[in-house]
Amino acid sequence: MEHVYWNPTMETMPREQLRALQNERLRDVVRRVYEHVPFYRNKMQQLGITPNDIHGVEDLHLLPFTEKQDLRNNYPFGLFAVPQSEIVRIHASSGTTGKPSVAGYTSGDVDRWAELMARAMYCANVGKSDIVQVAYGYGLFTGGLGAHYGAERVGASVIPMSGGNTVRQLMLMEDFGSTALCCTPSYALNLADAMEREGITLDRIRLKSGIFGAEPWTEDMRRRIEEKMGIDALNVYGLSEVMGPGVAMECMAKNGMHIWEDHFLPEVIGPDGKSLPYGEQGDLTFTTLTKHGMPLIRYRTHDLCTLTDEPCPCGRTHVRMGRVMGRTDDMLIIRGVNVFPSQIEHALLQVPGIEPHYHIVVDRVGTLDTIEVQVELSPSVMSDTVRDLETLERKIVNSLASHALIHASVKLCQPGTLPRSEGKAVRVTDRRHLQ
Ligand code: ADP
Ligand code: ZN
Repeated sequence: MEHVYWNPTMETMPREQLRALQNERLRDVVRRVYEHVPFYRNKMQQLGITPNDIHGVEDLHLLPFTEKQDLRNNYPFGLFAVPQSEIVRIHASSGTTGKPSVAGYTSGDVDRWAELMARAMYCANVGKSDIVQVAYGYGLFTGGLGAHYGAERVGASVIPMSGGNTVRQLMLMEDFGSTALCCTPSYALNLADAMEREGITLDRIRLKSGIFGAEPWTEDMRRRIEEKMGIDALNVYGLSEVMGPGVAMECMAKNGMHIWEDHFLPEVIGPDGKSLPYGEQGDLTFTTLTKHGMPLIRYRTHDLCTLTDEPCPCGRTHVRMGRVMGRTDDMLIIRGVNVFPSQIEHALLQVPGIEPHYHIVVDRVGTLDTIEVQVELSPSVMSDTVRDLETLERKIVNSLASHALIHASVKLCQPGTLPRSEGKAVRVTDRRHLQ
């Protein structure tokens, strides 16, 4: 396989050289936040450190963490490191877990974001001759504009669809001959199902790559989407506080997402607040090295994953992050057992005869937590007898017990009856919080 890089110098830079660049950029960002952001100056003063104590990455552990709550406490613009007149764009997180956190970008930041999304496009073999359908939401959410700028940067023809309008998406996909699709994996699946429903066969579309992210998904889900759409489905990661999509992107090796380390310094933090070695799972944490509008020091994403610096066949030297299992806020505790929706997804997709559409309802009866997993049947098993369906249900219960270690009740639903997502899927209804 031939590899084309958007920025060969940076993407394949030997790691020692990359480290030297990070050292220099880290010193610079620490100085900038110390001088311009009272929050960071105060924190560093409390810890008894100044920018002179930070010589390079080896001193990272001396620096304070930043939590989402710190962004909320300084809402909306308190962590900006430049005068407001220098800010050209404001985004906010989707607010999945509470009040949105705000991010401000200088024109340099917007430019660097486009560059990193351009690298992501090239990772997916998307370039100048491609037609890119952006079905991430446009707006305060970073997905739409992030993908848009990256696709434009590589010279592709961009279709700024935004999310929703499923039938129209498909019509334009066919008529315009879109070759790449950017959206959440759950929406991609929704589109794939709608294709089937509308009788649009694969020979009528030209799609070859999908750049899917903004929510957790599994390898099983990747396979399903790839089969249904006849594409390579790649994972893209980002968060608005740190930049937006394109903080990390998978290459065609489909074996983890390269974190653009010339711009972001990743760490994985363990429960004791210490940085873990590569390979161990913990809380992904970023220090932004080149952001000017709102630089962040050791920002705790609360996304659980591992990092690896093993060489990648694509030749890029930047470390890779594994799939995000979920954010710690999404972890369900059912009768003392910790479980992420992504583990439930994995367990479900081991069982033939069901579709990757599911919803999890957690409740409490008396003092006992209950969990019901609702999942859709494939149209092919709809004609099965009641007895067959009971067997299928038992298989799902067993798979949930062995793969996700939970004892759930399973509700088989008719095809097409569970709510579909147009952006980030809502996987869980937790009725325990309503009581
Ligand atoms: P919000 O926190 O309101 O959802 P964002 O829209 O900025 O804000 O979403 C960022 C979050 O989305 C990340 O912290 C992560 O939890 C999730 N996310 C983004 N990309 C991926 C991905 N490829 N896989 C899993 N989770 C992802
Ligand atoms: Zn690679």
